[in-house]
Amino acid sequence: KDGGKERGALLAARLARLNIVREDDLALHLPLRYEDYTSRVPLAQLHAGMSACAEGVVTASGVRYRPRRQWVCAIESDGENNIAALLTLRFFTFYPNQQKALAIGTRVRVFGEVREGHFGLEMVHPKFTVLGAADREKPFREMPLSDRLTPIYPTTAGLSQEVLAKQIARVLQRETVLRDDVAEVACRQEGLWGWSRALRFLHAPPPRLSREEQAALSSHIHPAWQRIKFDELLAQQLSLKQHKAARAGRRAEALKPRHVLTEALLQRLPFTLTQSQQRVWKEIGDDLALAVPMHRLLQGDVGSGKTVVAALAALRAVENNRQVALMAPTEILAEQHYHKLSAWLDGLPVRLVWLSGTLTPAQHKKTLAMLSDGEPAFAIGTHALFQKEVAMPNLALAIVDEQHRFGVAQRLALRDKAASIEEVHQLMMSATPIPRTLAMSFYADLDVSVIDKLPPGRAPVTTRLVNQTRRAEIIAHVGKRCAEGAQTYWVCPLIEESEKISLQAAETLYEELVAAFSGDGETADGAPLPKLNVGLLHGRMKPADKTATMDAFVRGDIHILVATTVIEVGVDVQNASIMVIEHAERFGLAQLHQLRGRVGRGSRQSQCILLFETPLGLMAKARLKVIFESSDGFEIARQDLRIRGPGELLGARQSGVPLLRFADPERDEALLERASHAADQLLKTKEGEAAAIQLIERWLGDKAEFFKA
Ligand code: ADP
Ligand code: MG
Repeated sequence: KDGGKERGALLAARLARLNIVREDDLALHLPLRYEDYTSRVPLAQLHAGMSACAEGVVTASGVRYRPRRQWVCAIESDGENNIAALLTLRFFTFYPNQQKALAIGTRVRVFGEVREGHFGLEMVHPKFTVLGAADREKPFREMPLSDRLTPIYPTTAGLSQEVLAKQIARVLQRETVLRDDVAEVACRQEGLWGWSRALRFLHAPPPRLSREEQAALSSHIHPAWQRIKFDELLAQQLSLKQHKAARAGRRAEALKPRHVLTEALLQRLPFTLTQSQQRVWKEIGDDLALAVPMHRLLQGDVGSGKTVVAALAALRAVENNRQVALMAPTEILAEQHYHKLSAWLDGLPVRLVWLSGTLTPAQHKKTLAMLSDGEPAFAIGTHALFQKEVAMPNLALAIVDEQHRFGVAQRLALRDKAASIEEVHQLMMSATPIPRTLAMSFYADLDVSVIDKLPPGRAPVTTRLVNQTRRAEIIAHVGKRCAEGAQTYWVCPLIEESEKISLQAAETLYEELVAAFSGDGETADGAPLPKLNVGLLHGRMKPADKTATMDAFVRGDIHILVATTVIEVGVDVQNASIMVIEHAERFGLAQLHQLRGRVGRGSRQSQCILLFETPLGLMAKARLKVIFESSDGFEIARQDLRIRGPGELLGARQSGVPLLRFADPERDEALLERASHAADQLLKTKEGEAAAIQLIERWLGDKAEFFKA
């Protein structure tokens, strides 16, 4: 009795490793592929490339040692078809009991992929079942062929296909598992199967499928798969949309236009807003004026001018006598925002408050006091703004720059800063453009605004791919341009494994460039290199030193800034026009695009030089090709998605969140559109809402919470 309990617990633990906890999880544990034991192919009809089940009698068996140790067996047809045919079985790992089981004269059923070997057709590591031995009087065991394709499931150590299949077959009897929660909307969708039909089909497809059906099954476009994917997408859409709808019932302060500070800023800017900026500012402004919490994502390519839009939103809060917080992921970026806004707002009645890890304890205390009194204020800072001791009792709007760098928990912490029962409006900004399908899929709970045009007057950045072997030329080239007044970022190779090595690499590069531009340096053909100031910026520096270095670069005192990827995000130095990236092949597409976006902000013709080392891997080659050919952030993101899949693109928001298991928003775009539409339909009625709850429960279970951040 106890043994049974123990076995049950062990099984449950193994299933849990596959994220199978409930009966619905078992039913949704779908096969990777199938094996066909429904018919037996006579040995004479086997051909290379087919996966088949066949039978024969062992006529030879022995271990060979060349080219490596292997056990080779031959089986022959035993007369039932009367056509002599032979199949070789080859095993590179094997056990004595297997050899014993396949003694000469044994009749065996084998399953495997047939290939052309040296001595005719063969199977490598076939599955086999012994049907009987020839030296017995008894006839061979008749083993019935199965009447369904045999599913092969993803599994884990200690959990056999048979056990897994048995568990799944058991729950496929359950009414709760087979129940079609959304039969009504699904049957209105052309070509979608009923839920139980789809489930049963995928777990046990009938034999003799046509070639087309087989292909559709393995590429997941079969109607049965379509139904599964539709439901998955629908559950996701419903979960997000429900959350959005719930938000509409909550309250926030309506920040009405007062036209005081916002107008003042617009008049002081050295430029006028582009049409794109005007449009998104209107979208954001309209949201803020409502007494419902805004959750808006502002997307815009690198350099598209999101900061000024954020500033306008912030001033709207301040002119309504409320507090606002603007958060940036790095010290440098937060400081740049602070400086830029200080300049823009100079003389206006706005209390600008700077909060970061660099403040002295006394300053820190004073700053906290300034925020906790609840007087209108515009706070700018880093993660420091999230900390518990920071109170902003009058907070009405939280703006998060480069939101993909922040985790959900951090954003929630910010939201909880406000003292009132009213919620805080949220504006999230991102320069990692998310393709429409992904946004539609994973951000269905957010409103999205897009700045789709760059400000005028930007000279496009030319991109060059240069082999490391031509490094000396690049040093000479950069020297020449910098002597003429240009400024250069020189980005160190990305070394993910170790921060220490990464620092060493930065220092080595720094020393190399300092030596080259000391005034005594020479080019390869003996021409003198100019004397230039080289600076170094890396993540391990003290914040104050970082600031000092960055300031010197902004002032133009440093010509070449050697930097680890700390400059990746958001930094804005107009005069910098050359970006050199060492070992560009190691960087991701989004990073390369971000880095390249650091230049090309002024009127000077800008260049991005990507140094790479050969040989290049396939992925690296693909990335470099994309970055070379395209400068459009959305196109790059789309290609990135194609090369990498959605996981990383979504960033911290999705960490720990179940991504879609079966559907792929990009490939299944049409289904996604239908699911999105069906979700809207469902949420219109009471019955629909009830069905939605059931469906979400089936697909997400307790994970539904993750989507709600
Ligand atoms: P990002 O969207 O990457 O955060 P920023 O807000 O840093 O971009 O803007 C990039 C640069 O463009 C800044 O120097 C900013 O002052 C400038 N800028 C923003 N809007 C305009 C505009 N409408 N016309 C000209 N320059 C602009
Ligand atoms: Mg920015």
